Amino acid sequence: MVLVGGAWRAPAGGQTLALENPSDGSVLARIARGGAADIDAAVTAAQAALAGDWGRLTAAERGRVLAAVGRKVLDNVELLAMLEALDVGKPLKQGRADAIALARYLEFYGGAADKVHGETLPFQNGYTALTLREPHGVTGHIVPWNYPMQIVGRSVGAALAMGNACVLKPAEEACLTVLAFARIAMEAGLPAGALNVVPGLGEEAGAALSAHPGIHHISFTGSVATGRLIQSAAAQNAVPVTLELGGKSPQVVFADADLDAALPFLVNAGLQNAGQTCSAASRILVERPVFEAVRDRMAERYRALRIGPAVADLDMGPLISKRQQQVVEHFLAIGRDSGLRIAAQGELPADLPRGGAYVRPTLFDDVPADHALAQQEIFGPVQVLIAFDGEPQALHIANGTAFGLVAGVWTRDGGRQMRMARALKCGQVFINNYGAGGGVELPFGGVRHSGHGREKGFEALYGFSTLKTVAIHHG
Ligand code: NAD
Repeated sequence: MVLVGGAWRAPAGGQTLALENPSDGSVLARIARGGAADIDAAVTAAQAALAGDWGRLTAAERGRVLAAVGRKVLDNVELLAMLEALDVGKPLKQGRADAIALARYLEFYGGAADKVHGETLPFQNGYTALTLREPHGVTGHIVPWNYPMQIVGRSVGAALAMGNACVLKPAEEACLTVLAFARIAMEAGLPAGALNVVPGLGEEAGAALSAHPGIHHISFTGSVATGRLIQSAAAQNAVPVTLELGGKSPQVVFADADLDAALPFLVNAGLQNAGQTCSAASRILVERPVFEAVRDRMAERYRALRIGPAVADLDMGPLISKRQQQVVEHFLAIGRDSGLRIAAQGELPADLPRGGAYVRPTLFDDVPADHALAQQEIFGPVQVLIAFDGEPQALHIANGTAFGLVAGVWTRDGGRQMRMARALKCGQVFINNYGAGGGVELPFGGVRHSGHGREKGFEALYGFSTLKTVAIHHG
């Protein structure tokens, strides 16, 4: 079904797509294969919402609605976690964390809705000059399958807070929690047409949305290749885009670091959601005096990993699909063929369901910084260790990919903390932590191939609004 103007209905073309359960390969559900006609109807419904009930709400009223939606999400955490486990292959504990993060985004943006405002400007005598923060109008949101709840929370939550009406295209591989969220939002009182959802294929519904002349801003989260297409499409309509793309994020461990504190972050930030995380710490740079200690302790953790179907709620589930499994295995083969040493691999239990998309999490030992495995985003449970000597070399390697999303630095040296934070080329730097509790409040986004624009925190509210200057001549 598609959600258009507050009503659920079959897509105009009458076609559906199968969703697979990646834990065992079974068909889980069928979703609408929305197309250009559905996108068109959704844009029209969003325009009507702006001219109607939704557009008439005050900022405080919008905030109250978002807060109510957030509370209803919290009432449904277990349902959402189960849907995410079946659909994405994510262990239940991670699905729960994502659902709670979704609620937190709605709470945060609900509370912020009436706190973003313009300014009065010192100007010439006889004038009063001021700025007004206004919504763009209809915003398009194209999201991937890996963290649908969190990404919808941060983009749709901020867009609604600023008074936009949204057309959302979830991913064809997994979108059950997005559909469930839309239902929850309607039940919690979100006015019809404020959020419209059209599932479907990227090249059909996604392309139609990004090229639609009725869209005034596009938020895209996904791959670099698709991001380029979205930006080109948006350029035809001269509308702004936010691109949240991929990464090859490093964690840099200096010899003076608190290794006990670092260890869990080094491994978990690489393997969470089976490594299918844009900000996955896929490169672990370690200063040579502690290289072997870090490698051996990470290897221990790899060997202890428990892997299984998502609903078993172990350390790691399957990848999203057989296709993604092939991609990751291709990279593992490149590593083996080029003679890289494997420091450790997790074990796959013999009784895993046959149709599941499982791969062995793999830690590669002392990989040359320019090797394909240290340069390309794999989007799977694969980390590379890279040894370095001293701060300048660490920085050179850390900044030495096409990406720039997130970086972590582990050191007790205060001066080095600041130097590294300033010199790393990326959108977020974490010192002696990584990920900082989900970071709902912290602006997030990339540079270079990791994209541009910022979501999360207050910064997203500026991105999802436009500024109007008013100059009044009163003599
Ligand atoms: P993808 O680009 O294939 O798909 C993402 C979304 O774009 C899906 O909804 C898809 O249907 C849609 N799409 C595909 N082709 C399209 C087209 N021609 N026009 C319009 N829409 C189209 O990405 P993916 O493989 O599903 O996701 C993985 C990528 O997403 C990784 O590179 C990852 O790093 C990135 N990602 C980034 C962030 C971030 O916040 N920076 C978060 C999660 C994922």
